Amino acid sequence: MEQAAVEPIKDQVTQTHLTEDIPKDRKCTVIGGSGFLGQHMVEQLLERGYAVNVFDKRQGFDNPRVQFFLGDLCNQQDLYPALKGVSTVFHCASPAPSSNNKELFYRVNYTGTKNVIETCREAGVQKLILTSSASVIFEGVDIKNGTEDLPYAMKPIDYYTETKILQEKAVLGANDPDKNFLTTAIRPHGIFGPRDPQLVPVLIEAARKGKMKFVIGNGKNLVDFTFVENVVHGHILAAERLSRDTGLGGKAFHITNDEPVPFWTFLSRILTGLNYEAPKYHIPYWVAYYLALLVSLFVVVMSPVIQLQPTFTPMRVALAGTFHYYSCEKAKKLLGYQPLVAMDDAVERTVQSFRHLRKAQ
Ligand code: NAD
Repeated sequence: MEQAAVEPIKDQVTQTHLTEDIPKDRKCTVIGGSGFLGQHMVEQLLERGYAVNVFDKRQGFDNPRVQFFLGDLCNQQDLYPALKGVSTVFHCASPAPSSNNKELFYRVNYTGTKNVIETCREAGVQKLILTSSASVIFEGVDIKNGTEDLPYAMKPIDYYTETKILQEKAVLGANDPDKNFLTTAIRPHGIFGPRDPQLVPVLIEAARKGKMKFVIGNGKNLVDFTFVENVVHGHILAAERLSRDTGLGGKAFHITNDEPVPFWTFLSRILTGLNYEAPKYHIPYWVAYYLALLVSLFVVVMSPVIQLQPTFTPMRVALAGTFHYYSCEKAKKLLGYQPLVAMDDAVERTVQSFRHLRKAQ
């Protein structure tokens, strides 16, 4: 599945479109900048005085202050013009985790990321900040206050996560202070906030279909949900603190809201905030897990006849019924990170932003 080597094209591009009077260390490119996290990243970077290129396969929004480059990150010819002339690259592009396309995950998250690294080097980029995921250390069993010292999951919860591990290893392994190329990985978990296309819309859709009636387990399992602006803040701090002197290159950082919440309480707050009923019946964790396992076996048995895509999977049961929250002490200590928006505010702002999905009373 490796892509063919691409001829260096550095001499073909003679200029960037970034504002000339902004110093090079404030020029950056957001790969995946049309996505949920990417758009918030672009907004905060502009607010903080950066000149911003966006590279994405689609133009998700209009902003005259941003230079868009459309293309596939797997293609060096597409990517190079967007990276030439910037000092920092934020890489937050990925296929949606819900996709069932293994080949796509491997191609974009792994070989595509290797292309990002190579093209950064070709273009003279000095810092690469990857959006990884805290799930790279999660195997479907409880993690409480997990630190970055925990090993990568031997059995990742899905193929998407398997490729996030490959991707993170490639980026951190590329850190090379001698060649003035520094890399780091930010590991968020459960990103939410205004314009999120996944969590809230999917939750409301499920509620509308009457599927949000059950709590898996006793409802006390704590997890991290992280407000998108805090995730962005962690990325920008990492970029600004990364230097040959700080020794932060090649390291990963958890970025959380630092306020783990019971999984079902969080979902219930969103649901009730939009006038939907919170789930109220409890189903024991292991019952749900083995039921989901049975469903998966059924899907495998039926696969020669019909391709089914169940949403009730053991992985989803594990995500909903186990503890998985992470320590962000390392980011606090080494990056000076503190969440900018506390959980109560974050939930309130998110609910407000989705009021168009509110259930009529
Ligand atoms: P998103 O789907 O909203 O955005 C991803 C963007 O990447 C999209 O705009 C898409 O067009 C672009 N993209 C995909 N393939 C591309 C390609 N081949 N070339 C160019 N652009 C391409 O996703 P998001 O929720 O904003 O996630 C951003 C990052 O954060 C991803 O790396 C994801 O793995 C990571 N992450 C997300 C969460 C979460 O809860 N959303 C949690 C942990 C980690």
